[in-house]
Amino acid sequence: MLDGCTPWPEEFAERYRSAGHWRDETLGELLAARARSHPDKLALVAGAHRWSYAELDSRADRMAARLREIGIGSGDRVVVQLPNVPELVALLFALFRIGALPVMALPAHRGSEIAYFCEFTEAAAYVIPDVHAGFDYRDLAADVAARVPTLKHVLVAGDPGGFTRLDYADAGAAGLPRPDPGGVALFLLSGGTTGVPKLVPRAHQEWSYSGRAVAEACDYGEETVHLVSLPLCHNWPLTHGLLATFHAAGTLVLAPGPSPDETFPLIEREGVTETGLIPGAALLWMEAAEWDEYDLSSLRRVTIGGSKLQNELARRVQPALGCRLQQAFGMAEGLCGFHRWDDPEDVVLVSQGLPVSPDDEVRVVDEDDRDVTPGEVGQLLARGPYTVRGYYRAPEHNARTFTADGYYRTGDLVRLLPTGHVVFEGRVKDQINRGAEKIAAEEVENHLLAHPAVREVALVGLPDEVLGERACACVVPRGTPPALGDLTAFLRERGVAAFKFPDRLEIVQELPVTPLGKVSKKALAGMFS
Ligand code: AMP
Repeated sequence: MLDGCTPWPEEFAERYRSAGHWRDETLGELLAARARSHPDKLALVAGAHRWSYAELDSRADRMAARLREIGIGSGDRVVVQLPNVPELVALLFALFRIGALPVMALPAHRGSEIAYFCEFTEAAAYVIPDVHAGFDYRDLAADVAARVPTLKHVLVAGDPGGFTRLDYADAGAAGLPRPDPGGVALFLLSGGTTGVPKLVPRAHQEWSYSGRAVAEACDYGEETVHLVSLPLCHNWPLTHGLLATFHAAGTLVLAPGPSPDETFPLIEREGVTETGLIPGAALLWMEAAEWDEYDLSSLRRVTIGGSKLQNELARRVQPALGCRLQQAFGMAEGLCGFHRWDDPEDVVLVSQGLPVSPDDEVRVVDEDDRDVTPGEVGQLLARGPYTVRGYYRAPEHNARTFTADGYYRTGDLVRLLPTGHVVFEGRVKDQINRGAEKIAAEEVENHLLAHPAVREVALVGLPDEVLGERACACVVPRGTPPALGDLTAFLRERGVAAFKFPDRLEIVQELPVTPLGKVSKKALAGMFS
């Protein structure tokens, strides 16, 4: 495995191979296999593009050839920051085929995050759209390229300006060395709790297995038409949308965003059967479905996850959208769970899903890592055939975040139903879940501490009906207290993604502390909720 990554101990690897979870197939070969078995089947719909499996396969090959021509090769890290455009899918498979490693940035990231990803991974290339949602990514790339001298290529999907166009060669790449199926295929971003986002190395065979296990848990088949309207670069749409759908030889439909205007016409036109939504978007869909005239009857099921779906909202989904509700949970580090089709309604309404693999191992533990009494709340620990054993190049963090016997400490407080379904009850990690975008409080606090009017600061999550949580900055000022606009302007200037900006500012004389002297975020949240 790549330097800086933690392999599975051989006894576990052997177990996962002999169970048939890990197969001798790379992600590039998965697409090639679909192109052989279902060449004319519609694989991808995005904008005006409709690509069959054969067409997508050939595009991935020709893009791989083009990337090789310009000098990108095996092991090179490529920071990918593309919205839901078809080139993103071709690019991912092109990179998998040449053994280059995508680092999956979000379209919302800005200079602070992107420069860090490029530097930390010593990226050879950075791939952007030209302009998206009114923002010119070429300006961002110019800034990043000036700060990161090792970055050799900026590739643009669209008008390249002064950079290079993300393009296809006339013919596919021949004679490519085969990437190791057990080796790293890509890096996902961890929501994280520390000053900088952590990178999660996902290997071909285990990540591919997570998609296959999701496809099985969700009974996907050739008739599946899955709509992705969240940013595809997140782990959840990638596994539940792209990988599970391609395993089943179904059709993946990309929407630019989750609003009913952008998604309802596509559902009607493409006969969408499945989709994943965060609770806030589900609320918008339910409201719009009341008066909207689009035919949504092809929807077999809507899957809601990313942050906790409140019971009251869960109850309204089926009547409002006329299809089944499925809840799901997951994390870039691996473990994910979904409801099964025959789960009883009372379980579907109150829990967030059942792990997808028979070899997922979960424990619920107290502060001393002892298993709680069954049914009690504790921290969820996870280990299994698609849950990583460590972050990339982060030995100290790994020592804290993984147990000696390889369980990932999720930071989530859960309880298990007797059926094994997981109920999310809160978290111990210092993270804010704002509409399923995760904010590491410490990262934002570090930026805000650099503001001259901020003496001390704590970022806390306050409950919000639509987003689940909003971020509130509790500031002990230095001199004249700053205004919220001063802080957000400051963060923007520092190149921080806008979803991390505080929504609210509270000026306090001092930060309350716990008996151990740590800032009590619980007390702060209680003061301002
Ligand atoms: P990410 O790695 O960004 O996908 O974030 C993973 C985290 O999202 C989990 O550790 C949970 O804290 C949270 N999460 C995901 N799905 C759910 C859900 N259905 N309910 C509550 N929290 C969730």
